[in-house]
Amino acid sequence: MYRTHNCGALRESYVGKEVTLAGWVQKSRDKGFIIWIDLRDRYGITQLVFDSERTPKTMMEQARSLGREFVVQVTGTVIERVSKNSDMPTGAIEILVSHLTVLNEALTPPFTIEDNTDGGEDLRMKYRYLDIRRNPVKENLILRHKVTIAVRNYLSNQEFIEVETPYLIKSTPEGARDFVVPSRMNQGQFYALPQSPQTFKQLLMVGGMDKYFQIVKCFRDEDLRADRQPEFTQIDCEMAFVEQKDIINTFEGLTRHLLKEINDVDVAEFPRITYDEAMQRYGNDKPDIRFGMEFGELNEIAQHKEFNVFNSAELVVGIAVPGANTYTRKDIDKLIDWVRRPQVGALGMVYVRCNEDGSFKSSVDKFFDREDLAKWAEITGAKSGDLICVLSGAANKVRGQLSALRMELAERLGLRDPKVFAPLWVVDFPLLEWDEDTERYHAMHHPFTSPKPDQIALLKTDPGAVKANAYDLVLNGNEIGGGSIRIHDKATQAMMFDYLGFTPDEAKEQFGFLMNAFEFGAPPHGGIAFGLDRLVAILGGQETIRDFIAFPKNNSGRDVMIDAPANIDAEQLKELSLILDTPK
Ligand code: ASP
Repeated sequence: MYRTHNCGALRESYVGKEVTLAGWVQKSRDKGFIIWIDLRDRYGITQLVFDSERTPKTMMEQARSLGREFVVQVTGTVIERVSKNSDMPTGAIEILVSHLTVLNEALTPPFTIEDNTDGGEDLRMKYRYLDIRRNPVKENLILRHKVTIAVRNYLSNQEFIEVETPYLIKSTPEGARDFVVPSRMNQGQFYALPQSPQTFKQLLMVGGMDKYFQIVKCFRDEDLRADRQPEFTQIDCEMAFVEQKDIINTFEGLTRHLLKEINDVDVAEFPRITYDEAMQRYGNDKPDIRFGMEFGELNEIAQHKEFNVFNSAELVVGIAVPGANTYTRKDIDKLIDWVRRPQVGALGMVYVRCNEDGSFKSSVDKFFDREDLAKWAEITGAKSGDLICVLSGAANKVRGQLSALRMELAERLGLRDPKVFAPLWVVDFPLLEWDEDTERYHAMHHPFTSPKPDQIALLKTDPGAVKANAYDLVLNGNEIGGGSIRIHDKATQAMMFDYLGFTPDEAKEQFGFLMNAFEFGAPPHGGIAFGLDRLVAILGGQETIRDFIAFPKNNSGRDVMIDAPANIDAEQLKELSLILDTPK
């Protein structure tokens, strides 16, 4: 037996017992006549003691030679510590060692295995197995496990069935590029890795499975934006005989359960707002509602003077930044520089100081009087002590810019408290989205999403205005889930493909299997998928999903530990018919 207990188990009640432990040497302190070693495993740390009075000389020498991260097994007696450490669960005891076996030696780790390590990101990723020995990473993986177990139990109790769907499939267009896998047995042909199990889960509904879920890897070959992973995990779900509100209620239940189970927080009913409202109030379809700073549209009360910047703008819109009248002129100039950075792209910013005495001081005092500014304050909800920031320009652009500013200021003001959870549903997304590059409409969610039934006629006259039965679950400014009620009849699906620019032959080629299935009694159905990595990160009070994935890829999509992707040899390429046989 390698061990009788783990390194987190022993307490004062074990004093006098003989135990065997195994683990890694966290650190040692050598005072000459006495050596203490912290022994670590997944469960905690236990202090070992060797002293010249009670420990044979050879073992003292052996203990002295142990390096950091050596793997050792010890047998000894649990004794009470003279100076107890109340910060450690095992801090009242130590082990007076009688047998010491080195199970394996270790090179000096390239970074310290401490909560605050000296290792940079690259080094930690290269030696991820050492990084995982550190508490923060270990705790994150344990949290992820807890979340997945809670999800499985909850959904299973609601009669959902977990079904696995294939990874080697044909492409599904969900907006990103597919990773492809050459088929050796079918020369010149390729599988695609699923961007999501979308069509399969719909086919499971046709198959009568009724309530499906799967915790599943998805693959998207996107240009990596910050904190995106080419492979990521979804909690993928689908239900038959449901309307939007049924899906929303079911998965609000799941989310509420997770918040309670994992974070012990109770959240009241989640607000539901439409996409249009989200854009109007927050300039963003995934608003962070942990704080206010809602948009105030000022067109009516800001376009009646000689200020041409505003008069020529499609939208004039502002936010009240709480307490920010304390910003100095220099602070405000910096803020203006911030909104003018190419990443944000505003041309400038108008500001109004709301003074404690009820007066205003603005950057446009030449054009606007007290009465005007008081109205701006009223509409943006500004109180004395606040600073109103106003942007103007083309509506869509300016909303994005002000949203970026709102988030930045909230961050600076500490309003994005990771311990506060503010979920909401954003519903009624547009069905289609105009793509400037291809000059075509694309499905905003995916081509299987059903338009709102009363809007189908609008498809002919004003496609961009058609709303879909699509919804997102947003938590603390992140989209953590998204889904839709699906089209379940062949004619509507064919029409949809037509609008999206597929010829009937292309539609048949790529989605014939789904449209055929719709002819064999497809039930009305709909679903949702959660991004598990992000959900776990947020529940863990953090935002970086990499920290919640055991072996993540870096920002260039590489696994720097195993060094992938990598070349394959000519023989393999030939076998896969990726290169032609070269004459010898
Ligand atoms: N398959 C969709 C996605 O990956 C989710 C859904 O519509 O259920 O976003």
